[in-house]
Amino acid sequence: MSDFDLVFTNTKIATMQPNKTPYGIIENAALAVTNGKIAWFGPEKELPSSTIKEKRSLNGEWITPALIDCHTHLVFSGNRATEFEERLQGKSYEEIALGGGGIMSTVNATRNASFSSLLTASEKRLQSLKNEGVATIEIKSGYGLDLETEKRMLEVARAIGKKNNISVTSTFLGAHTIPPEFSEKGKYIKFLCDQVLPVLYDLKLVDAIDAYCEKIAFSAAEIEPLFEHANLLEIPIKIHADQLSDCRGAELAARFGALSADHLEYTNTAGIKALAEAGTVAVLLPGAFLTLGEQKKPPIEQFRSHNIPIAIGSDCNPGTSPLCSLRYAMNLASTLFQLTPEECLSGVTREAARALNMIETRGTIEVGKQADIAVWDIGHPNELSYWLGLNQLSSLYVKGQEV
Ligand SMILES: [Zn+2]
Repeated sequence: MSDFDLVFTNTKIATMQPNKTPYGIIENAALAVTNGKIAWFGPEKELPSSTIKEKRSLNGEWITPALIDCHTHLVFSGNRATEFEERLQGKSYEEIALGGGGIMSTVNATRNASFSSLLTASEKRLQSLKNEGVATIEIKSGYGLDLETEKRMLEVARAIGKKNNISVTSTFLGAHTIPPEFSEKGKYIKFLCDQVLPVLYDLKLVDAIDAYCEKIAFSAAEIEPLFEHANLLEIPIKIHADQLSDCRGAELAARFGALSADHLEYTNTAGIKALAEAGTVAVLLPGAFLTLGEQKKPPIEQFRSHNIPIAIGSDCNPGTSPLCSLRYAMNLASTLFQLTPEECLSGVTREAARALNMIETRGTIEVGKQADIAVWDIGHPNELSYWLGLNQLSSLYVKGQEV
């Protein structure tokens, strides 16, 4: 005899547990929640006799783990629609960045934005993701590049989570680009190590650290001191790696035991082997690939053959991925990178949880995990990667509460 706070009946469940049936499907299922956690799930006819406070029939609709967006730059001010237009008139992202445009225009707008205006602008994007079933989101800083604005961005990220009843993890991306106040990258990295990271860490605003390893940003050697500093503070590491060129970013990620290496279009075989040995998650960001009109795809087949976990993020950002739909990112991962719909769904649930160091509490339907649940009006979970722009979310639960 057990007590359940809430029981969903007449449902089908895609548990997304690995090594089970495809999608971990259970037909004619029920799922029970107690104290915000999944207490039981399985065939409805096996539901234990219990005291049930509330029962909800889902009329045959599907349950999946709530979606997780494991890579976003959601907090920023302004937008870069003008740059978008310039690129379509023939300028490359690198030309715009080297010419002082691009990211610095967002840095200036974000530095000048108040806490409340930043929160309001960012919440609109959050709402779009949440409307499609996202209950956990990673948000990076990186448009401040000074202590004051980096701190404000991370505080806005924290506030977004609290205000909207979702889970937010915040990542410090001070090493996004070099700000105009510095002429040497090494000196800027030292400034981050000595004067920014320790303060933000003491304020408990840093769940992970990230860096942009690319010709137009920082080399692996330039990033190393920052990651060494993060290691001393036991801060988990993530990295933007090998997006536009092979910068040995994947190897850097592996050397530091990173949670994830993200983008990876140009990662070479040595980098792939290193990721596999380190257990680092490969996060694919097809929104940026699409927006930039890239041609070189990430080495998906080698990720598969090396059993590297594959996650998918929206990369929501104003420059290279103005994408506020994780469902669309799933579709793009299928159509551009040939991921299967099951890989796409595990990429925004189980593997995204792994990329955020949250696999113990989220990402699959398992007893004891947080009851973060999406309910869908679909005939099969493969539809979640198939439709473009059709929102089939019926309801979203975080810790067993509808949000
Ligand atoms: Zn990014």
